[in-house]
Amino acid sequence: MIQIAVAGAAGRMGRAIITVCQSEKGLRISNAIERAGSDTIGVDAGQLAGVGNIGVPVGDDINVSPFDVLIEFTNPGATLSHVNYCREQGRAMVIGTTGLENSDRKEIEQAAREISIVFAANMSIGVNLTLRMLQIAASALGESVDVEVIEAHHRHKVDSPSGTALAMGEAVATAWGRNLDDIGVFTRHGQVGPRVDGSIGFATVRAGDIVGEHTVMFALEGERVEISHKASDRMTFANGAIRAARWLSSRTPGLYDMQDVLGLR
Ligand code: NAD
Repeated sequence: MIQIAVAGAAGRMGRAIITVCQSEKGLRISNAIERAGSDTIGVDAGQLAGVGNIGVPVGDDINVSPFDVLIEFTNPGATLSHVNYCREQGRAMVIGTTGLENSDRKEIEQAAREISIVFAANMSIGVNLTLRMLQIAASALGESVDVEVIEAHHRHKVDSPSGTALAMGEAVATAWGRNLDDIGVFTRHGQVGPRVDGSIGFATVRAGDIVGEHTVMFALEGERVEISHKASDRMTFANGAIRAARWLSSRTPGLYDMQDVLGLR
């Protein structure tokens, strides 16, 4: 039996993880963690998720009972403190939190020398297949094509562009042998001048309850290729995270992503 701890248990993703875990064989929620002061502390995690009582009250102390894998969908500050904890305790992690800075990623890389971590901005199988398709398109079309990444999410999302949009830009940049930090264009306002050759533009929509939509446009003179992914239910991310947690339980320390989990590399 794999013991799962869920950080961000009362959040949209935390509740989805608890729901999926309840219907899976060989997995058990042992810990449900929320931020100190949350009014969900003490409430049964299954009740929060709408799957009935599971006998695990939400707490603010990660140390309360042992677990094998921590599934983390919170915010960058909380994620880093959980990375430190798991590193000290030798526990595996699935990290889905987005909006992390490069310095935060470095801390995760360092921790992954000692523990096994799956870190992916998007856990959905479809998005990870899309990343592979983007690499193929970028290699085939070359750097003379104009690439634009357009993404849309619900009105509560706090980071922009989405971690998935950045991962898509990185897939294209990597296929070109470039660094996204050097060629990404993240804002356009006013007299910005014509498009810079070899750049990757980003555009963001925040509205209503959109779960997550991404389109990467490859535009040439006379034709355009668009590769799109649309998520209609956040269970897709939860299913991917659970698949990653199972996969991790038999891995040696290292930093992995969903391409590894799904065997797409
Ligand atoms: P949310 O705001 O609904 O949930 C986050 C939860 O984390 C909240 O309940 C909050 O109280 C809790 N939290 C904050 N500090 C905490 C702490 N110290 N310890 C424990 N819990 C704490 O957000 P969400 O929609 O569930 O998304 C969470 C994160 O996951 C975001 O960064 C989002 O972009 C990302 N996300 C990733 C994927 C993916 O596939 N990788 C999919 C969806 C969302």
